[in-house]
Amino acid sequence: MKTALVCGAGGFIGGHLVNRLQSEGYWVRGVDLKHNEYGNDKADDFVIGDLRDPRVCEALFDRQIDEVYQLAADMGGAGYIFTGDHDAVVMHNSATINLNMVEMARLHGVKKIFYSSSACMYPEYNQLDPDNPKCSEDSAYPAMPDSEYGWEKLFSERLYLSYYRNYGLEVRVARFHNIFGPMGTWDGGKEKAPAALCRKIIHAEDGGTIDIWGDGKQTRSFLYIDECLEGVRRLMESDWTGPVNIGSEEMVSINEFVDIIATISGKKINKHHIEGPEGVRGRNSDNALIYEKLGWKPTQPLREGMAKTYAWIEKQAASAVK
Ligand code: NAD
Repeated sequence: MKTALVCGAGGFIGGHLVNRLQSEGYWVRGVDLKHNEYGNDKADDFVIGDLRDPRVCEALFDRQIDEVYQLAADMGGAGYIFTGDHDAVVMHNSATINLNMVEMARLHGVKKIFYSSSACMYPEYNQLDPDNPKCSEDSAYPAMPDSEYGWEKLFSERLYLSYYRNYGLEVRVARFHNIFGPMGTWDGGKEKAPAALCRKIIHAEDGGTIDIWGDGKQTRSFLYIDECLEGVRRLMESDWTGPVNIGSEEMVSINEFVDIIATISGKKINKHHIEGPEGVRGRNSDNALIYEKLGWKPTQPLREGMAKTYAWIEKQAASAVK
């Protein structure tokens, strides 16, 4: 039986990944500072531990681990990443986790290690035009991410790739573009746009108004969690290191995105644009490389995944009120 360690298993993507690996027949150990908020961790073994501590990392390898999926990071949505207030902790915490884990993987003979980077590492100067953002993998340099979160991701990508070059450690690096779906944070300040907009619309009356950060003309693409996991698994099974985008090419403006969610809700929703942290003006995944190398790209329309996500958040919001 193959064994896997999922770092960040208490989080959104990590929780789903644990279940996906289990369904494929892996023995899975999860590790996180906390259990999954929504009970979405069916790991065979779950360790509560702080990956900034090398002794905690070391103890995770008391049995043979074939594959490591390193998703633990200090992160959140725009309200956490782009205000500047958390820059030092974001950089320190995430870099320390990555420095520890890649070294442990090397010392303990791990066969492959996956690292989740982010589209936030792409240079801001290529993402100023909301209609024509450029995020092909080869456009990463000269580097100029718009946040310290993005700089840490770029540093850590390079860290993993240097272990591949110098030690032959089999690394796989993906750049996620806005992953969403059920069982993700939907309130409390660390939630991202899809969940935050669903929550606002759920709480609004029919004909009511919701606040939107910025003018709503900024563009993004969003990828449903199941598609993200498919991309991760295909990359891990391949003999190619990446880095590669794992995202959707269905780009929408935030105003259009709100209209899609409003249609799902069946409510008429008015938009009130206010000042707030926005990130880059435009961003879209470029899937040419993943298609070329892995013969795969996501297919599910945004509306389908959003309908499932909306229904799940609606349930959460209803039970939070009780
Ligand atoms: P998440 O915040 O839900 O999960 C991250 C988990 O890491 C959390 O459960 C957190 O408790 C854990 N963690 C943080 N510090 C830790 C520490 N010191 N020790 C142990 N665990 C620690 O985030 P997510 O959305 O599931 O994202 C997973 C990964 O994917 C992250 O690396 C993130 O940067 C990357 N990513 C996510 C997105 C997205 O849209 N969700 C986009 C780009 C990149």
